[in-house]
Amino acid sequence: MSVPLLEARGVSKRFGGVRALQGVSLEVYENTIVGLIGPNGAGKSTFFNVLTGLYVAEEGTVRFAGRPLSVGQPHQVAAAGLVRTFQNIRLFPQMSVLENIMVGFHVRTRAGLWGAWLRPSAVRQEEHAILTGAQELLDWVGLAGQGGRVASTLSYGDQRRLEIARALATRPRLLALDEPVAGMNGVERQRMAQLLQRIREQGIALLVIEHDVRWIAGLCDRITVLDYGQCLAQGTPAEIQRDPRVIEAYLGTAIEERHG
Ligand code: ADP
Ligand code: MG
Repeated sequence: MSVPLLEARGVSKRFGGVRALQGVSLEVYENTIVGLIGPNGAGKSTFFNVLTGLYVAEEGTVRFAGRPLSVGQPHQVAAAGLVRTFQNIRLFPQMSVLENIMVGFHVRTRAGLWGAWLRPSAVRQEEHAILTGAQELLDWVGLAGQGGRVASTLSYGDQRRLEIARALATRPRLLALDEPVAGMNGVERQRMAQLLQRIREQGIALLVIEHDVRWIAGLCDRITVLDYGQCLAQGTPAEIQRDPRVIEAYLGTAIEERHG
């Protein structure tokens, strides 16, 4: 087997008396979609926060693309190609849709203040390339014709798409999405699943948090189930759905109903 793109080993994180993560391990290989499911409070978002350098874990290691990730350095993690979205949408609400995507491209560009002063023509070229790239991404995620709108006026589902477009603009190798279909109806969920599959076809791996077992099972190659900060089960969607521990824990109830 090849080396995983992302490899987390034995990650533990506590908040005072709350053991949010206890020895969680997870791998994501290139060209795969991995699901992370579990009830509210299971530790899913905390795990993302550790992966992306926002929180420092007490124990465990995280390697990305064969190297240890810079702990506590979110910008370096993003620059290495691990880019995430947040459970609560974080756009620049008063900026236009197109400008929000352009911000993602600027993360990648070299022209800083000095470049702008010394080489204005090169900067203009770069700006033009960013504008073109942002417009292409806009169409690609299904927001064609919406570029001039103020971001906050988009529907909830479209704001999620815009967040993903902005993340894609940074050219990630792994896109980590925290509940990308929360609050969406069945049709929107289907459309989002199609978008995520198209992203994978571009050679980008995905790690996706969601409560809905059926939706995630239809999308992912592998699933990890977290419960009270621990790995309850890991496997293919079929294995997860017939895993005795998962069945015992969730029999007769949807996962999200158990803990409310
Ligand atoms: P999930 O995303 O699976 O719903 P979280 O990772 O948000 O779960 O939370 C896991 C546990 O850690 C919960 O008990 C939550 O209250 C706690 N927790 C998460 N973040 C913090 C924080 N910044 N400070 C204190 N407790 C936190
Ligand atoms: Mg969460």
